[in-house]
Amino acid sequence: MNHYVYEFAEGNREMADLLGGKGAGLAEMTRLGLPVPPGFTVTTRACRAFLTTGTEPPELGTEVARALAALERTAGRGLGRTDDPLLLSVRSGGRYCMPGMMETILDIGLCDATVTGLAKATGQERLAWDSYRRLVQMFGQTVMGVDSGLFERTITGLKAARGATEDNELATVDLILLTEKFKAIIHRESGERFPQDPVDQLHRAIRAVFASWNGERARIHRRGDHIPDDLGTAVTIQAMVFGNLGVNSGTGVAFTRDPATGERGLYGDYLPDAQGEDVVSGVRDAVPLAELKRLAPRSYIELSDHLRTLERHYQDLCDVEFTLERGKLWILQTRIGKRTAEAAFRIAYDLLDEGLIDRREALSRVNGAHLTRLLFPRFATDADNAPLATGIAASPGAAVGAVVFDSATAVRRAAAGEPAVLVRKETTPDDLPGMIAAQAVLTTRGGRTSHAAAVARGMGRVCVCGAASLVVDQEGRRLTTGSGVLVHEGDTVSVDGTAGTVHLGALPLAASDVGRALETGEQSGPLSEAVLRALSHADVVRRLDVRANADTPEDAARARRLGAQGIGLCRTEHMFLGERKALIEAMILADGESAREEALADLLPPQRSDFTAILAAMDGLPVTIRLLDPPLHEFLPDRTELAVRVATATPPDPRDVRLLAAVERMHERNAMPGMRGVRLALAVPGLVAVQVRAIAEAVAQRMRDGGSPRAEIMIPLVGAVEELRLVRAEAEQVLAQVAAETGQAVRCPIGTMIELPRAALTAGRIARHADFFSFGTNGLTRTTWGLSRDDAEASSFPGCPDTGLFTGSPFETLDEEGVGRLVTIAVREGRAAKAHLTMGVCGEHGGEPASVHFFHRAGIDYVSCSPFRVPSARLEAGRAALAAT
Ligand code: ADP
Ligand code: MG
Repeated sequence: MNHYVYEFAEGNREMADLLGGKGAGLAEMTRLGLPVPPGFTVTTRACRAFLTTGTEPPELGTEVARALAALERTAGRGLGRTDDPLLLSVRSGGRYCMPGMMETILDIGLCDATVTGLAKATGQERLAWDSYRRLVQMFGQTVMGVDSGLFERTITGLKAARGATEDNELATVDLILLTEKFKAIIHRESGERFPQDPVDQLHRAIRAVFASWNGERARIHRRGDHIPDDLGTAVTIQAMVFGNLGVNSGTGVAFTRDPATGERGLYGDYLPDAQGEDVVSGVRDAVPLAELKRLAPRSYIELSDHLRTLERHYQDLCDVEFTLERGKLWILQTRIGKRTAEAAFRIAYDLLDEGLIDRREALSRVNGAHLTRLLFPRFATDADNAPLATGIAASPGAAVGAVVFDSATAVRRAAAGEPAVLVRKETTPDDLPGMIAAQAVLTTRGGRTSHAAAVARGMGRVCVCGAASLVVDQEGRRLTTGSGVLVHEGDTVSVDGTAGTVHLGALPLAASDVGRALETGEQSGPLSEAVLRALSHADVVRRLDVRANADTPEDAARARRLGAQGIGLCRTEHMFLGERKALIEAMILADGESAREEALADLLPPQRSDFTAILAAMDGLPVTIRLLDPPLHEFLPDRTELAVRVATATPPDPRDVRLLAAVERMHERNAMPGMRGVRLALAVPGLVAVQVRAIAEAVAQRMRDGGSPRAEIMIPLVGAVEELRLVRAEAEQVLAQVAAETGQAVRCPIGTMIELPRAALTAGRIARHADFFSFGTNGLTRTTWGLSRDDAEASSFPGCPDTGLFTGSPFETLDEEGVGRLVTIAVREGRAAKAHLTMGVCGEHGGEPASVHFFHRAGIDYVSCSPFRVPSARLEAGRAALAAT
């Protein structure tokens, strides 16, 4: 039994760990009887041995020699034979496809003694010398470490001297000359001669492939793709075939289906009279594969047959690299083809219909990330409308609207049915109403994690941020682009959140068919049909319910159309933005009990009407309403701004003076950042009562109207059971009062958020006073790590992904080891105290695929996320259920 070398016929597809993806694919095709040039693969085990000891394992030489002898017998040629030499390619490749490894070396075996033999055997002297020249160049730069620029400059110089523009205009004598010059360069630069012994060439190439595993480029790629450093690469050695022998020769790439759309039918490119590397380097334009049908019909049919064989065998989209050598077809590589989100859905469900895979497998072939991508509208064409500016593609999608420079104008225009693009230097919580109203948000400052970016992503709003070349003139209501173009308020622009660009005018939009199909249930083609099939299967098998985070009736209705089974988080603070901020200000400024009660009473009607509308939109489904959470000073004007206003006005507005005093008071108190959530509820008498009353009256109203309201009251930031007990008692009292006043049986479950480690650790006690738990995983992550989201994602942070300390942001994918452990403890101890306690998740993790899988395993009842992530969460919940069985 060989240890380090496997002939193609000895391997198979299961052996990718040992033979690399490429080696395993070649072995499998050989077993299937496909025309693969003969060869063998040196295993990753040999590479690992080389990397630990610094030399090849002693047995390797003998094993390679034995495999080479077998290869020579099969090929009927000998390495180094001067009449009809065997030439080899040396190809790298580990378990995972990974850029940065050593490039393939073609034509190993050519040397001064064999080059004329090749010329005679092929009848093409030019080809022989061109191949030799390429080998010397390739070998020199990849194996012997000579600067590639030296070779390039020599070629350029010679072409100039000959008045040639293309390589193929050089004559055979020129190629001979180049070969000699290249050999001289190698000798001069490395102090060594280009090896004339083909066996020596082979061994040196193998060693160079091993060493390239630890090259800098390879290491960087591994880190980026989370590929372990200790896997090593395999090396595949294969007899060369030639696609550049004139007519009936050529090379190409073919897919079993269209990898962009998933459409059935062969797809690919073909380049007549060329070697494979010419396709990639793009020296000449390839023609569509259909052209091969015309040029070499028999080969085309043969290729189609092989592709069908491969697809049936792998039960998936495959791609191949192939070469036609004087009419003889050779397959040089196959793998499972990469595909777009669109193709992933279509192919999975077409394969299901074709009987190649079952339903379960089809669902495992698509994922939430694919689905989310399909929901964004996009610009229909790659319009040649040059962008006004480029910034960071912060939140994908395409939007067209009129430029506005402040939140209020965005709200006004949206109310009038006019789409708006909100342009700000940067956004603050004050801009929220405008961000909600606008189609897109464009900022000139801030990065991927800026307020604008984070909020826009959360809402599924298109966003480009940090478009630094734009100058915003807030007063003049216009902006100037880097090239001096003036854009005035009201001018139409197009924002491409996928590309990070802004364009003047309205680029044509293509609404996402899939999004429409999901909302209406109407299938508009094979893609949306596939998506709906995947989702309905996921819905049947999933155990997790999926709710949405929604604060407005419109979002609630949309979420429901997208399949949300309720609202997991309805934030009340969004109800006090814009004009209603004055109500909160009045409450803060109120002097004495009766003034405060009056101010509180003013909060009641607008809240009640919001809750009524949201409960109507979610009729029959649970709506979890979180009581006011943020610290009060967030509702007040900025301290510095206010101070300036008071100092400069004569006389100052008395209201401003009182506001400033209040802001200063709050500011001091909030030196302790914990004055929010349940603590706020306990500190401001009457605040809980008015909110609960608004909820209860909305419920009573809906009941009177014949609806089935299912409001749930959620207390934020509880750290100790006592806090919950106090607020709960107050809330229950109000519920009872409203029930008595209205004669309706108003009942609302009262539960708590688990967003502090202390709450998770004392969940057993908290559970006795809670009807449900909702894990606020954003807060729980923040408090567990002692980090804000911005900290974790800032490039200056020592724990940022580039350093390898984190594999990703814990704010994006739930940190199972730490935060997840708290969740697990709270679920276990909460349920031990109260068996039927409902457990939900309302942090954005609720819509993130990997986290959804964790919540499934942790025994959570539902996840809640932004409306536009609901379909993705449904899909992943289904996949998680399948993965667990
Ligand atoms: P990559 O991993 O970059 O795809 P490959 O090992 O597939 O590298 O090789 C790159 C190109 O070299 C291939 O597209 C193929 O055309 C050519 N090639 C590799 N092996 C051979 C061979 N035995 N005969 C002819 N061409 C080959
Ligand atoms: Mg390849």
